[in-house]
Amino acid sequence: MLKITVLGTGYVGLVSGVCLAETGHHVTCIDNNNKKIAALKARKIPIYEEGLEALTTKNIDLDRLKFSTNLIDTLNESDIIMIAVGTPIADESTGTVNLNYINECVSEIAKLLSKNIIVIVKSTVPVGTCDNIQKRLDKLSNFECVVISNPEFLREGTAVYDFMNPDRIVLGSDGREKKTVNQLYSKFIEEGTKIIYADRRTAELIKYASNAFLAMKVGFINEMADISEKVGADIKKLSEGIGSDKRIGSKFLNPGPGFGGSCFPKDVKALVKLVSETKINSNIIKSIIKANIERFEKISKDIMENVQECNTIAILGLTYKAGTDDIRDSPSIEIIKYLIKHGRYKIKTYDPVGTENCKKFLSDQVEYYVDLYKACTGASLVVIATEWDVCKKIDAVKLKNVMKDLNIYDLRGIIDKEHFLKNNFKIRSIGYKQNA
Ligand code: NAD
Repeated sequence: MLKITVLGTGYVGLVSGVCLAETGHHVTCIDNNNKKIAALKARKIPIYEEGLEALTTKNIDLDRLKFSTNLIDTLNESDIIMIAVGTPIADESTGTVNLNYINECVSEIAKLLSKNIIVIVKSTVPVGTCDNIQKRLDKLSNFECVVISNPEFLREGTAVYDFMNPDRIVLGSDGREKKTVNQLYSKFIEEGTKIIYADRRTAELIKYASNAFLAMKVGFINEMADISEKVGADIKKLSEGIGSDKRIGSKFLNPGPGFGGSCFPKDVKALVKLVSETKINSNIIKSIIKANIERFEKISKDIMENVQECNTIAILGLTYKAGTDDIRDSPSIEIIKYLIKHGRYKIKTYDPVGTENCKKFLSDQVEYYVDLYKACTGASLVVIATEWDVCKKIDAVKLKNVMKDLNIYDLRGIIDKEHFLKNNFKIRSIGYKQNA
């Protein structure tokens, strides 16, 4: 079994580290955030992710998983160092990616290294970054470093499952150290997971292309939902009808308020930058972000049309999707920001796990509730913004007793319409004629 050090213990680093320990490797997860590491050492998981706590505890107990703030503790005992730090957008207008965290890691590795090592880049990085890291390490270090691009495709909310059951593993390298990297993923290879060996640039581009394609699918189905509303078609049936075609596939065909999260927006912006740099004539890639921003505006305006000023709007769901506490670029928050800017409403919110993160963004501009029905009390409109189970199961009778006006706008198409119609609610639902 291999000794692995993971640099960056966020959504990707922590899940990758824990899951690689679960497959039998000895893993140390490093982060420069002292609080995070102290919490993890005390077996407290700093993010919300199904199944992560149990696997973490199990692997700490098996002595396969450790946490530290010091790279020097494990670097020179490791076969592999995996970089999983953040790569946010540095400049929204140009899509330039902030590679500072990556560069800091590379400098630190070069400074502390006293043996040959494999450097795996798990972070999503612009094409050419891994080649540049290889050149820098060749220059800065006296030891042989082999840089491999190994983008991660896990989804927040189902991250542990996704890591343990990948559709494919992409490995971009110059061909050196294939044996050790195959050993890293031996459990997956034995189970028949498809391994795609490519060069580093292709591996990097595969990640951007995957996210841009999925974001485009979301944008496409949202436009089909708008068409359905106009012509009286049923978007659920339409999604089923086109998604049953294997060439299209059924995933990412749920209409909604637009896409968000820490990856799609930033990765599409980075791809747009690449389009500009390479002077490619692109209409499709460039339109993905524009359409998504217009989506937030359209939904916000729809909400404003359904509720008079000075009334109360209850927003149910703050995270960008169910199953995570991540609120980065959440459509729900973009919509709230629009409502605050363009209207005068009292906004009450509820989210099962995202509230604390949201407070950092919206502070006291909205009210926060731990009880869904309390958030809806006195509301003239309830907006279902995230597809949480608890939102799927809302009791129309209980809601009717606390709301001022019986209006519900289901942005995710998850409520039991019959149940609400029976209780005299006016329902607005994406992809259907109003009250249909
Ligand atoms: P994150 O912000 O949750 O975590 C990054 C961590 O790195 C933080 O804990 C931070 O403290 C730490 N860090 C920063 N600099 C450091 C340093 N020099 N040394 C040690 N630790 C350092 O980020 P994330 O969401 O896990 O994303 C990481 C990368 O994975 C990004 O490139 C992202 O695009 C990519 N990715 C993310 C997802 C996802 O769903 N979040 C999925 C696939 C790929």
